Amino acid sequence: MVWFHSSFSSFSSLILSYNIQSGIRQTNMLYTIFSLLTLLSLGYSTRVTYADRKVLRCYANSKEQLEYLHNIQDDNSLSLDFWLETRNIHSPIDIMVPMNTYPLLNEMLKTNDIHCYTMIENVQSIIDRELLQRNIKTESFFESYHNWTEVHEYFDGLAAEFPSMAAMSTIGNTYEGRPIKIMTISTKPGSGKPALWYDGGLHAREWVTVSTVTYLADTLLRGYGSNSDATNLLDKFDIIICPILNVDGYEYTWTTDRMWRKTRSPNKNSACMGTDPNRNWAYHWGEAGASPVACSDSYQGSSPASEIEVQNVQNYLYSIRTTLKSYVNFHSYSQLWMSNWGYTYQLPPDYPTQNELSEAAVAAIKSVHGKVYDYGPIAETIYPASGSSADYTYGVCGVVFSYGVELRDTGEFGFLLPPQEIIPQGEEIFAAVVAMGQYIGENSL
Ligand code: ZN
Repeated sequence: MVWFHSSFSSFSSLILSYNIQSGIRQTNMLYTIFSLLTLLSLGYSTRVTYADRKVLRCYANSKEQLEYLHNIQDDNSLSLDFWLETRNIHSPIDIMVPMNTYPLLNEMLKTNDIHCYTMIENVQSIIDRELLQRNIKTESFFESYHNWTEVHEYFDGLAAEFPSMAAMSTIGNTYEGRPIKIMTISTKPGSGKPALWYDGGLHAREWVTVSTVTYLADTLLRGYGSNSDATNLLDKFDIIICPILNVDGYEYTWTTDRMWRKTRSPNKNSACMGTDPNRNWAYHWGEAGASPVACSDSYQGSSPASEIEVQNVQNYLYSIRTTLKSYVNFHSYSQLWMSNWGYTYQLPPDYPTQNELSEAAVAAIKSVHGKVYDYGPIAETIYPASGSSADYTYGVCGVVFSYGVELRDTGEFGFLLPPQEIIPQGEEIFAAVVAMGQYIGENSL
């Protein structure tokens, strides 16, 4: 990682681009000065910078090319960050690359006849825009992203506003001691209704997952009694929402490194921090598609459920397994609705119903804003990935309707989805949740 202490050249280019686009008017000048001060006050100079990074979108046309891309993924000398890992032939593979290794990478790709184009020219310019937007006061909570304390406060506020239906609890702490909170929404608390679980923020940089489950909680609570979809769903099911599973990692993306993915626990005998919390769950741990290398972004951890966050959530999910009908773990990006298994290509016995629900969910999503989500088993749809949360909830807890869902977009902004998409994203996932409730109500209760 490059640490950027003298941040003035980046500011200059930012100012220049604003002025070119809008003409030099006094208001813009004031805005620019305000922006500069804002960025300084946000501790910009101590953040990891991505000013020298671009994102390439590549396609493999053969198994050999796929294999080649897979192999360069963990080549430390190139300092690559695969935003989208190697999947199938003809599926996009997005690679963030530093300028200083780009010429070498470009040469290697050309030699192997692998076709790529630049998807994002300068990653930092999008992060800068996001940094500025953070400080603009918005009327709605859903017009901007929020840090972990704001998200937890919002949930606490909802629970206070709807005390007969919503209850907050802490299911354990993170490695750095932050609470992992959940909200249980129930029209008849304690009656043991079948439950559906939705969580966000397992991978730290995937911010839209946090805003989406927050939007879901808000829409359900405000809609009960007036919106027939919310009412029918909550009459049948309890809904449990965990807004941020990996709170430490999420906080780190706000303070220090916007592109952080893993937990923040140290690793023995390595300077690299963190474990991939979606490769660490205690079911077929450490098999296909997880890395034993601590510096890898897919590091599986030192043992099954080595991460305290994973332990806490695993234990809680296991304790409610008899009432839990569905588990959905949100990620971004790619627009995919994925079922079991992750660890193997083999199809599970419940595959036909699991897949039918996926079909219903993606149809509901499409009906809202026309967004197309692909669906299928994790291993087939993306790549084998063992130690994922959805494999644990199905394999260990017996939750048939367990899914990993990749939210918007399909690559234009990747992890840096503009806040203008928070509400439409929330709307289409609310529709999917309603469709899930209908399907499970008709087929599995
Ligand atoms: Zn993810």
